[in-house]
Amino acid sequence: MPNAVEPPTESPSRLMAAYELLADGSGPPWRPLAGGTDLMVQMTGEIGEPPERVLDIWGLDELRGIAIDADTLSIGALTTYTELRHSALVADVVPALADAAATIGAAQIQNRGTIGGNVVNASPAGDTLPVLLAVGAEMILGSSSGERVVAAGDFWPSYRTTARRDDELLLRIRIPVVPDRQVRFRKVGTRRAQAISKVVMALAWRARDGDPWTDVRLALGSVAATTVRAPAAEAAMEGRRPDRDMAEAAAAALSDEIVPIDDVRSTADYRRAVAGRVLRRLIRDAGGW
Ligand SMILES: Cc1cc2nc3c(=O)[nH]c(=O)nc-3n(C[C@H](O)[C@H](O)[C@H](O)COP(=O)(O)OP(=O)(O)OC[C@H]3O[C@@H](n4cnc5c(N)ncnc54)[C@H](O)[C@@H]3O)c2cc1C
Repeated sequence: MPNAVEPPTESPSRLMAAYELLADGSGPPWRPLAGGTDLMVQMTGEIGEPPERVLDIWGLDELRGIAIDADTLSIGALTTYTELRHSALVADVVPALADAAATIGAAQIQNRGTIGGNVVNASPAGDTLPVLLAVGAEMILGSSSGERVVAAGDFWPSYRTTARRDDELLLRIRIPVVPDRQVRFRKVGTRRAQAISKVVMALAWRARDGDPWTDVRLALGSVAATTVRAPAAEAAMEGRRPDRDMAEAAAAALSDEIVPIDDVRSTADYRRAVAGRVLRRLIRDAGGW
């Protein structure tokens, strides 16, 4: 039976007040509510675990804003997809993140849904997650006992779980600013909007014009229980130029190493084949052939 009862809700306007509530162990855990585009769907209990207590964090200005210092781009957890799409800093440092934001839902979802919600919701189909994994992002978590940093590679340990403790908020996401880095994003869904991905991919590498690629990082969603890297495909690209041989080797390695599942959105065979094709096309576009 769907649960129609509204859970108790608090809406603190200061971070410290939010931390105090989160630290209160006398009841069930508080579930942070950001844009609500995932959590509201879970409210009735028909999809996912319904929240027993809701902490509305929309009023916490400390979780907003996009800023850059010498070597890090910092994105507040409450940054919406619309804000990501319009940010000059994101366009400069990691335009692939704006590309990912542009594929999420439609305008209503983009105006309300946040990058922090996407990260903590931890869906293996979450569209920003492959970009964050490919660029080596760091998640900054905060609680009444201070802040800590968790690398994207450690943030989603298993299906729909995160490294976040119940008393913590995701405050912001840090992306290293790396010279000569390129990042590309591709999503394959049933439609071009309002589609959950069948395969979603981000590819990052470093190279000056025409030089071999280094520091190659390939991350995929919707092909495993969590967002994953593809080390064999990365190895097939590392130290090479983006020519046909490299593309064939990388695509073959990728199709061999991923183990997707059949589900309502796609078959495993389709996902394996399309992942290889998308990677081949990304490399072809980068190589200009
Ligand atoms: C019609 C529709 C289409 C969609 N299309 C896509 C799509 O194409 N691609 C895609 O990836 N997703 C899609 N989504 C899912 C959703 O919009 C995104 O995951 C969005 O980023 C969630 O952000 P939010 O702010 O709404 O999170 P919320 O729903 O508020 O929260 C999501 C989860 O994260 C937790 N949380 C949120 N912020 C924090 C924080 N700062 N600290 C700690 N915990 C936090 C919440 O407790 C909850 O568990 C779609 C959803 C809908 C309804």
